[in-house]
Amino acid sequence: MSLSAYNRVSINLTALRHNFQLVKKMAGPDTAVLTMVKSDAYGHGLVPVAESLNAAGAGYFGVASPEEGVSLRRAGIKGNILVLLGSVEAEPLIDYNLTPVVFERENIRALSAAAVRRAAQIGVHLKMDVGMGRLGIMPMELQAYVREIESLPGVYLDGIMAHFPLADTDNQGITRAQDKIFRQQLNELSVGRRVMCHIANSAALIRFADTHHDMVRLGIALYGCSPVAGPLEPVGLKAVMSFQSRVIQLKDVPAGYGISYGHLFKTRVPSRLAVLPVGYADGYLRSLSGRASVLIRGRRAPVRGRVCMNACVADVTEIPGVETGDEVVIMGQQRCGAAEDEITADEVASWMGTINYEVLCLFGSNNKRRYI
Ligand SMILES: *Cc1c(COP(=O)(O)O)cnc(C)c1O
Repeated sequence: MSLSAYNRVSINLTALRHNFQLVKKMAGPDTAVLTMVKSDAYGHGLVPVAESLNAAGAGYFGVASPEEGVSLRRAGIKGNILVLLGSVEAEPLIDYNLTPVVFERENIRALSAAAVRRAAQIGVHLKMDVGMGRLGIMPMELQAYVREIESLPGVYLDGIMAHFPLADTDNQGITRAQDKIFRQQLNELSVGRRVMCHIANSAALIRFADTHHDMVRLGIALYGCSPVAGPLEPVGLKAVMSFQSRVIQLKDVPAGYGISYGHLFKTRVPSRLAVLPVGYADGYLRSLSGRASVLIRGRRAPVRGRVCMNACVADVTEIPGVETGDEVVIMGQQRCGAAEDEITADEVASWMGTINYEVLCLFGSNNKRRYI
C-alpha cells in the first residue's frame, strides 16, 4: 500500500445510508437486508461502513472470514454476522456470536463437538449449490445435511442459502430455473424451526423480485454501483467512493516528445503535461496506460504513456488555467465553473478490463480514506 499524502479516497457515508434506505424499500417489508461488508466493505472500510449501517438500522452483516466478524464485534456492532466462508475454529464463533456458513459434514461435526465442550449453541446457515458451481452442498444432499444438523447437539439450523452466478446477465432463464430448484428443495423440507432462506444478491434484488425470499444479500448496490453488466435502468443509487489527487508538476513540451517508460506515447503537437502522484501502487493499474482519463478543472484530461508505480501523466493542453496543486479526480464527480463531469467506477473498470467491484477494492484498499 502506498499512502501518498496527495491522494485521498473519499467515502460518502450519506450516500451509503441513502442507498441502504433505497434497497430496503426495494426489498420490501417482509424481506431482511443483509449488508455485505466483506473484504473491508468492498474497499470502503469494514468498521466505519458497518457502524454507519448499524446506526441506520442494518441488522445483518456478511463478512468473508471470522477475523472480519471479530473486528465488527470489537467495534460494538450489534446484530447478526454471517461468515460466508465458514470457520474451522469454533472459538471466535462462540466468543463473538458469529454465524458460520456451513457446507462440509466434518466441519459441522467439529463445530458441534466444540460447542458442546463450551456448553454453547452455534447457529449455522447451510449453503446449497443450485448451479453456482462454487461453494455449497448439492441439492440432493440437502435433506441429509439438515437431518444431521438437527440431530447434532450444540449446532442448530438458522438459515439455508444459495447464490446466483448469472443474475447480472441477460440469461434470465437460468436464474429463474435456479431459484426454482432452491424453492423446490425448501418446499420438500420439513425443519423443526423457522430458518432464513436467502439467495438474491444486488443484481437479483433489482431484476428478480420473486427471488427475494426472507433476505437479500447486498454488496455492490449499497456502494452505489451497478451490479448489472451493461446499462441499468436508473434506480437512484449514489456512488459512495471517489478518488482525488493533485497536480504535482506542470510542464510544456514540444511536439514529438516521448512520455514515460517505453515512450508509448509521443506528443503530436506542443503540449502541456500535468504529472500526477498516482500509479499502480495506489491501485491505478498499469493496464490503464493509454486508456484512462482524469478530471481537472471539471474537464477530461487523457492519461498519456505508461502508468508508473507512483506516477502518471495527464495531457492538459486543451484545458486552460491548470495550476500545480489543482485537484485531480481519478474517479468521481468534479465541477469547476460551468464545466462538470464524472468518471464512474464502471468507466474505470472498462479501461482496466475488469468490473466495478475490483476497482472499488483496489482504490479503497491502497489509499488513505477519508469519511464525509
Ligand atoms: C459478495 C456476495 C454477495 C453480494 O453480491 P453483490 O453482487 O455485491 O450484491 C452475495 N452473496 C454472496 C454469497 C457473496 O459472496
